Amino acid sequence: MDAVVLNPLPFQIVLPQLFQTFRVREGSATAEEVGRLAAEAQAIGRPKAIYRLGFIDEKGADYVVVDGVKFTSRILRVNLDSAQRVFAYVVTSGWELETWARSQEDLSALFWADRLNQAVLGSAYGAFQTQLKDFYQIGQTSRMNPGSLADWPLEQQNVLFGYLGQVQAAIGVELTESLLMTPTKSVSGILFPSEETFASCQLCPRPVCPNRRAPYDPVLLETKYRGQDPGASATETSAARPEIAH
Ligand code: SF4
Repeated sequence: MDAVVLNPLPFQIVLPQLFQTFRVREGSATAEEVGRLAAEAQAIGRPKAIYRLGFIDEKGADYVVVDGVKFTSRILRVNLDSAQRVFAYVVTSGWELETWARSQEDLSALFWADRLNQAVLGSAYGAFQTQLKDFYQIGQTSRMNPGSLADWPLEQQNVLFGYLGQVQAAIGVELTESLLMTPTKSVSGILFPSEETFASCQLCPRPVCPNRRAPYDPVLLETKYRGQDPGASATETSAARPEIAH
């Protein structure tokens, strides 16, 4: 199936949630500043997504082939054990907000604009997931992101972008030389139906991470992902790339 572009994606900045996360007192000068910036972000933001529904042709010990494209990861392969289809995607908060956030003139505004931009991405990703689930009538899903675990390294971004096609032309997201995405508030990955919930954080021992979505499970790697294949070593798969928002 060809890639599909969703532009724009709906989003909502929930200020009370943001205030709670960053311990901002409602009614304070900071709250007033954040409220003003949030109104600007809500007016300017134009998050978007590109995705492609793919069907699995082949499953090896540490790879899957989707529509002729090989994704190499033991953990992805195990997670797709009972899956027949996947959704490759890139979701971004967009250049509109990236440019706006970078243009703030004082440190406080720069900080809050960045946080708001991140919140927009989170909200837009939620909308993307909901639209996908409604349209394709899928139940519970999980996702994996290139670079979140060494088992599926950042180099696989090239494969993912190649599979999706004209990502930059469609939604403005491109890969830097170090394979990070610009605009920076962008996420890429493969979403798949799953009976059990999976999050890369379960295999990531990083002690402090503001983005952690699930507790670290030190035995999961051995019990579920370490099969006969020697390619999935505990050292490799437990090492995370903390700089990536997963
Ligand atoms: S770095 Fe953070 S978000 Fe990424 S896998 Fe580890 S705990 Fe999860």
